[in-house]
Amino acid sequence: MEQKTMHLQKYMVAENIDLVYMDNPTAVAYFTNFESNPHERIVAYVVSQNDHFLFVPSLERAEAESQSNVSKVFTYTDDENPWAIIGENGHKIASNIQKVSVDEKTLTVERWFKLQQTFSSATDTTEWSDISNFIEQTRVIKEDDEIKKMSRAGELADEAIQIGMDFLEEGITELEVVAQIELEMKKRGVSEMSFSTLVLFGEHAANPHGNPGDRKLNQNEFVLFDLGVIYKGYASDATRTIAFGEVDEHKQKIYEIVLEANRTAQAAVKPGMRAAELDQIARKIITDAGYGEYFNHRLGHGIGKTAHEFPSINSTSDIILEPGMCFSIEPGIYIQGDVGIRIEDCVYVTETGCEPFTFLDKELTTIIK
Ligand code: MN
Ligand code: MN
Repeated sequence: MEQKTMHLQKYMVAENIDLVYMDNPTAVAYFTNFESNPHERIVAYVVSQNDHFLFVPSLERAEAESQSNVSKVFTYTDDENPWAIIGENGHKIASNIQKVSVDEKTLTVERWFKLQQTFSSATDTTEWSDISNFIEQTRVIKEDDEIKKMSRAGELADEAIQIGMDFLEEGITELEVVAQIELEMKKRGVSEMSFSTLVLFGEHAANPHGNPGDRKLNQNEFVLFDLGVIYKGYASDATRTIAFGEVDEHKQKIYEIVLEANRTAQAAVKPGMRAAELDQIARKIITDAGYGEYFNHRLGHGIGKTAHEFPSINSTSDIILEPGMCFSIEPGIYIQGDVGIRIEDCVYVTETGCEPFTFLDKELTTIIK
């Protein structure tokens, strides 16, 4: 049995959980190594205190058997009732099912009803609990091989931003730059970005989650790149804001404030620190400079198999930073109709501080073309 599943089973014994059902593809991949994109079909990992099985559409059987660390793989065709097969085998690996745990944050309501029909006892005394916190807490500390994959994902993000910068020219659109970045990443074997690539020009970047469109690049404005890739099931996420031509002093000054917040926060990371404290360190720099109201999101978010996961680095987060935790540090200042600047690196916590996954220069880069 794999280490991660053994850890889960220990928890199940301690909590008297007879069966765990999970079907979120990243959680399934985390425990079984089987990466999938099942769309509306079901890929599920079902675990009892001493056994487990992987459940996949029959068309994915060969891949599930070769990729996963689970020896029992059950399948269903499009003409079969998946719940009958999950139920039959669930009852085989757990003889007396009284307590079932599911991931409340990702299980759909439709499947929740099906699971209740499948595993509720005749007398309806079955107890249901939520396994999502346990999964988050387990995933939050990354092992060395996970850090290695994330480091490679970070290198590729650095390269992607550099490709975008090199491609800039007056009159080009945001979407043309996005297309070039993603084309070049695909040529390097990246099949998936970790989220929709953001390339935003000038005042368009004042919306932190803006949509790249047909906005054309002018001289003397900022360009914001926010992107990441998936490498072997692990994500990167980085942001750089650069000047195309000469930006005015007001904008340069704002850039320097964001940069100081980014650097100070990155230098302050230490195991044992509260996440909220880190958020406040960055926020204080921006607030003291008079732009507090324009830093309108948290300092960062966890990263791992997905670009956004537990923990949140915000002003109320009580989580204590520990070696192996990975998260973003991404202060920004956004002034509607004027300017949007963000500088983001993801880092992993070490015994003494933190190390970034991305290394592109953070001093204001100016491109003259
Ligand atoms: Mn981010
Ligand atoms: Mn980002």
